[in-house]
Amino acid sequence: MMAGNWKMYKTPAETKAFFDKFVPLVASSSHCEIVICPSFVNLETAIAATSGTNVGIGAQNLYWAKEGAFTGEISGPMIKSTGASYVIVGHSERRQFFGETDATVLKRTIAALEAALTPIVCVGELLAERESGSTAAVLSRQFQDGIAGLTDEQFSKIIIAYEPVWAIGTGKVATPEMAADAHRMIRAEIQSKFGAAAQSTRILYGGSVKPDNIKGLMAQPEIDGGLVGGASLDPVSFASLVNF
Ligand code: PEP
Repeated sequence: MMAGNWKMYKTPAETKAFFDKFVPLVASSSHCEIVICPSFVNLETAIAATSGTNVGIGAQNLYWAKEGAFTGEISGPMIKSTGASYVIVGHSERRQFFGETDATVLKRTIAALEAALTPIVCVGELLAERESGSTAAVLSRQFQDGIAGLTDEQFSKIIIAYEPVWAIGTGKVATPEMAADAHRMIRAEIQSKFGAAAQSTRILYGGSVKPDNIKGLMAQPEIDGGLVGGASLDPVSFASLVNF
């Protein structure tokens, strides 16, 4: 899977202009699932622009209640009603700036599954955590508290993204070996809780993925695709990642 996270960028007009260019560039790509996650206000434009194509659309967050007095929030059924199929959960920017915790990641993941959306659940360590040698402990805690509470059936429907926080939007990409090591740590956690699902679960790498570093990352059998921020905003650059 190659998934794009547009963060808080693009208007509906810019969204339409992106897909006018992007859709033909990936029309014959069948080797990976292609997903773009625009902001909520662009979902309908994105769905209309990709209807009948091989490009799927997702949101970047959801609230866990189906409806209610939760001003400013958007639920899984609301996202589903736009025609979107995916949702990013627990992105590090949500954890850093909006108080997301492992416990709320679990609630949002379950809500996404209940709305028949495929959650792309993000985990990853901070720079200080990597430097202090606690990457494995952090990934384990995020897995145990944010993911392990799913049933086997729920777990079989999620995608995990390993995104080292120090590599997001910084231009500092993890080396392919560092990324693969972290993916192995996550797979070991999956193995101990969900058994054989460890082999079939897709784990994406995210953090400054660009056309000039995709080759080394995708050469790692542990890495099943990418979650791409900055480089997904440009149709030519994201198409070159998809078509790699
Ligand atoms: C992201 O937003 O998930 C991300 C990985 O961003 P970037 O590719 O810009 O580092």
